[in-house]
Amino acid sequence: MSSTTRIGVIGAGFCGHCTAWLLTRLGHEVCLIGPEQATGPGQRPGSSAALGVLMADVFQRRSGRGWRLRQQSLQLLHQWQEILHSEGRAAPVQRGLLLLASSAEELERLTRLKHGRQPPGAQLELMAAESLQQMVALQQLPPLPGEPLGGLWSARDGQLDPIVWMQALQDSALANGLQRSRAVVQTLNPQGPRWVLELSTTEQLNCDWVVLCAGLESQTLLHGLGLQWPMEPVSGQALELQRRPERSDWQHPMVWRGMNLVPRPGGRLWLGATVESGTVTNGDELEQLRQLQGDAPGWLLDAEVIQRWQGQRARPVDRPAPLLEQPLPRLLLVSGHYRNGIVLGPASAAWAADQITMVNSAVAGS
Ligand SMILES: Cc1cc2nc3c(=O)[nH]c(=O)nc-3n(C[C@H](O)[C@H](O)[C@H](O)COP(=O)(O)OP(=O)(O)OC[C@H]3O[C@@H](n4cnc5c(N)ncnc54)[C@H](O)[C@@H]3O)c2cc1C
Repeated sequence: MSSTTRIGVIGAGFCGHCTAWLLTRLGHEVCLIGPEQATGPGQRPGSSAALGVLMADVFQRRSGRGWRLRQQSLQLLHQWQEILHSEGRAAPVQRGLLLLASSAEELERLTRLKHGRQPPGAQLELMAAESLQQMVALQQLPPLPGEPLGGLWSARDGQLDPIVWMQALQDSALANGLQRSRAVVQTLNPQGPRWVLELSTTEQLNCDWVVLCAGLESQTLLHGLGLQWPMEPVSGQALELQRRPERSDWQHPMVWRGMNLVPRPGGRLWLGATVESGTVTNGDELEQLRQLQGDAPGWLLDAEVIQRWQGQRARPVDRPAPLLEQPLPRLLLVSGHYRNGIVLGPASAAWAADQITMVNSAVAGS
């Protein structure tokens, strides 16, 4: 057996890019397969629809798999960003996130997060309503939605632009030998200890390992192997707005009643939220989002809508998100990330890399 392993990563979303980048850096021969993700108005694939909000230290639990994956991703993002920067690639992360409390229950929840067990290195700070209003007066924040009863500031959480990151990871991996196919994989066929992928270009690709990062479509490819890993689509929507010129120096995302407000360069704003089962996005809900369900401050109501888009999140049925599994030998499933595929992308890639290293080491030692 050769010392390098040939790996097909199916699906060029955020998880596929993270996985292909990491495996290439570990010295494997990797092919990332799948169409480039479309951007622009209307329907977008999951990762290019995402706002890229990173919530790890403010995750409501302090133990369990979801918590561990988030903490690992936070560390990996930091390391990966340094590597990408050392290669001269732009991969910014806007660190800092403000959760606003719209009710006494929410304030209590934020207070529990602050006073409960904290992850090492977390920097959480409770903010009184008066302090928030003072920041508005000092133009460090724009006028806030509704009348927040307080807030929780998290210095290590934040936001990244998934499209910029996917490009940086791909460019970096290509420079390290990544192969890139924009074909669609039609079937996966086991052949002895290897996998043969039938591509839409009528080519075939032989691999030692396959990592399935095809989001909702992963279940279709598994179905072809007689396996059931059901996921359902949950539609999410987003708006890009142009704010009228105003003086506040606002730079960090804030969350109001589950709606994410992400300041963007050039006075733009991304606004996203809501969870609806199914694939259809309803215009009324977009308008509700624009008005922050009746809590929008004047500057937001005055902002001009530049673009609207929607995407689908893959929610596993009867299993917790994400699906990090090995359905068959040398076939890894890295899908079903539902609402958190950006924050969980790096840790999911690390999980896949660990599985491959473990099996390869066991084979080499036997
Ligand atoms: C509006 C919205 C906002 C969101 N905001 C956030 C956020 O702030 N933070 C966060 O962490 N998450 C967020 N999410 C969730 C996040 O977008 C997803 O969890 C994440 O994008 C999943 O990434 P993925 O790579 O698994 O899947 P996807 O991005 O769906 O990528 C799957 C890829 O597989 C390809 N593919 C499918 N079938 C095949 C095949 N047969 N052969 C080859 N390729 C194939 C597709 O073309 C696609 O490019 C948001 C989602 C939406 C919709």
